[in-house]
Amino acid sequence: MHDLATGVTHFRDAVFPAKAELFARLTTTHTPATLFIGCSDARVVPELITSSEPGELFVIRTAGNLVPAYGPGADGVAASIEYAVAVLGVERIVVCGHSGCGAMTALAERHDLSTMPTVAAWLRHADAAAARPGSQATASLIRANVVAQQANLATHPAVARALSTGAVTVEGWVFDIGTGIVTVIDPAGDDRIIAA
Ligand SMILES: [Zn+2]
Repeated sequence: MHDLATGVTHFRDAVFPAKAELFARLTTTHTPATLFIGCSDARVVPELITSSEPGELFVIRTAGNLVPAYGPGADGVAASIEYAVAVLGVERIVVCGHSGCGAMTALAERHDLSTMPTVAAWLRHADAAAARPGSQATASLIRANVVAQQANLATHPAVARALSTGAVTVEGWVFDIGTGIVTVIDPAGDDRIIAA
């Protein structure tokens, strides 16, 4: 198992010095241009797959990259979205799904979640995706879920306002763990691979 203390020491001694100027600037500024909403899955590391530096991505990670639709009550996901859009003024929101997603596999294969009532309840936020025709296959559900979560995202007032003025754009991605390829999901079916 990777030792965290060794990792922290390596960061402090070998990584931080090379980025000291960046971190010095970041002590007083926090102006990420992108809100990245991804899965909690340990294999999908937003900064790594986008080659982003500290300060560039405001990140929310949830099981299945699910974004509950806006509703009353305290909600950490909603609060983070509101803060990113209304306060930080992010210009771009990415909802990123991924291959081999455990949450989407559980839904597509109808796993028994009776011993995980909280997980089962949380995955209800993917009901709209699961209801789409052809979403019985895990890969199709992963894709449909990215589209559905973009729709949920748009129900948040701060996002709706920013979308109406063109202040923010929302896009859906799927990251393939085995190849490192990121595909931009087009709800109309015209997906494309990201390439510079
Ligand atoms: Zn996942």
